Amino acid sequence: MTAPAELAPALPLTPPAAKVPPMSESRMTITTIGLDADDTLWHNETIFRLTQDRFVALLGGHADERAVRERLAAVERRNLRLYGYGVKGFTLSMIETAMELAQGADITAAVREILAAGREMLSHPVETLPGVDQTLAALADRYRLVLITKGDLMHQENKLAASGLGELFSAVEIVSEKDRGTYERVFERHGAGASRAAMAGNSMKSDVLPAIEAGAFGAYIPYAVTWAHELADAPVGHPRYAELASIAELPAWLQTLEREAA
Ligand SMILES: [Mg+2]
Repeated sequence: MTAPAELAPALPLTPPAAKVPPMSESRMTITTIGLDADDTLWHNETIFRLTQDRFVALLGGHADERAVRERLAAVERRNLRLYGYGVKGFTLSMIETAMELAQGADITAAVREILAAGREMLSHPVETLPGVDQTLAALADRYRLVLITKGDLMHQENKLAASGLGELFSAVEIVSEKDRGTYERVFERHGAGASRAAMAGNSMKSDVLPAIEAGAFGAYIPYAVTWAHELADAPVGHPRYAELASIAELPAWLQTLEREAA
């Protein structure tokens, strides 16, 4: 029997540098690969969507589906700057939305359900996406892998521990926002700067555009569903941009970049 995710040992922020390949002396373009976590390495948004469906059903007596979804999205947006990204902030926003829609009615039972749903999300088993384990194992022999993710610190650490992927990473960066400055700092700290780094993830807005802006290469690997807050236009035609159908295409893309630079 395996321990539930919430009991899994938390990884230190920067795990022991067991996987730091030596810098190649060849004119290799890329030394560091940044990887997003949620919906890039493992399922996440589908779990949020399932909880939202339960929330809609829970508040069915107070408002129709569309009103519940719209109000929840508005409350989340309003709270993002204060709560940041992650399940705990989402749970608080569900409670706030329920209180607004109930207009003074007793919602003790609903709040209990919402808190239970939040705890379930935090202890949900981690399911890696197809091809992730093999691809990361292959890349770790050649590059420094850095996990770069937003979200609740403890939840992300627990998910990484539960995924079994922790040993493949040279470093883990759990950040409050993913912008140009974040990528400049992270790639400076864990390699030879953004110009010799690539970032891969499912969010055009958080993973791809700011990384390219910082001077890195950016690979967009779409997930089946995307949170509205993370949508943005693709920089189609940009020389440092690519859209990949799956993470399994990442090594071949990196090899192409290296061939072009040679
Ligand atoms: Mg993501």
